[in-house]
This record gives sequence, C-alpha cells and structure tokens, in this order.
Amino acid sequence: MDDGQNSKLFKLNDQATTYKRPTLQELLERNAQRAQTFKPILTFNEMSNLPLEKQLPMPKIFIVSCDDPRIIASDLLGLKQWDAVVATGVAGRIAHQFENMLFLDHFLHFEDIMIIHHTNCSAGIFKNDEIYRALEERAPGHPSIRLPGFEDLEQSVRDDIEFVKSSPLVRKELADRTTGYIYDIHTGKLSLVI
Ligand SMILES: [Zn+2]
Repeated sequence: MDDGQNSKLFKLNDQATTYKRPTLQELLERNAQRAQTFKPILTFNEMSNLPLEKQLPMPKIFIVSCDDPRIIASDLLGLKQWDAVVATGVAGRIAHQFENMLFLDHFLHFEDIMIIHHTNCSAGIFKNDEIYRALEERAPGHPSIRLPGFEDLEQSVRDDIEFVKSSPLVRKELADRTTGYIYDIHTGKLSLVI
C-alpha cells in the first residue's frame, strides 16, 4: 500500500519555481494586514456567558495526522472549526502529541482519538538511523530521543494504537475508542487499520 517504501529516489525541490514561498517578513506583513479588519475572538469567559443557543460545543475528537503539506486533515475529513482538535507532526505519530492530548483531554474529555498516517510519507522514506547518526555527531552522548520514522506503514499505525492502549495515563474508555487509519494519497480514502 505504501508506494513510498519503494521509491527511494526522489528529489525535494528547494529551488525557485512558479510558486513563490513567502519570507518570514512577508508573513508578518500578512498578519498586520489581516489585523486591520480583524474581529476580536471571544475569550473563554465571554463564550461561557453567551446564551445557550449561541454556545459552541467543545471538540470531542482528537486527531493526529502528518504535517506534510499535501495532507490537510481538515480537508480530508471535511472539518469545520469546532469539529475536532487536530495535532500534526511528522507521520502523525501519537508519541509526539501524547502530552498535548493528555493535557487537553483533562479539560475536553475526548470521546475519540483518530490516528491518521498516509501513503508515501517522508517518515517511511527517510530513515531514523541516518538522523540519529547526524545528531550523535552534533551532540555526542545526547539524551535519547524518539524519532518518527518507520519501516512499515501499517505497522506504524498499529504501534501507535498500542502506544495509546498500553499507557496507564489514558482513560480506559478513550483508549478503547482510539482508532488508526491510513490515508491513501491516490484515492483520497481513509482505511481503518485497527
Ligand atoms: Zn507524512
């Protein structure tokens, strides 16, 4: 399923193309521009004082997906602003979002966790070992860290589900409702792994 596993040779284009990347300064200018017509966001206090019919229910689904620019969870799931909390990181590995999930779950009481990995993911192509070696050269004997690369796409989803289910820090009912998917970049479809 993961065609990326077999395509070892590809180039990450870092050269100028017809798409012009913004500089950091341009992003700051965009923000200043936007602020001119910005309507203030309600504080949590103001939100809770709204009449009931205007209040918004807090999100109950925590989604982890890859931060690859090709993979936009809100697009592939048709999310609206309040539908879910989306955390992104390389490959959509849960370990790197775990503390964030626990922190938010304490207040939001999630009902589901969705873990979404995808075909042709860079984390299935670039190898942890190479990066571990580079980091060891930069900082010999550094504290051990966990990198997100994986060898097998489906197994990476299974490992992440196991990570959640085996943690005593996760509420049992939430661990039971943690599901893992693979997003196929050719079909646009999600398939349940576990
Ligand atoms: Zn990816």
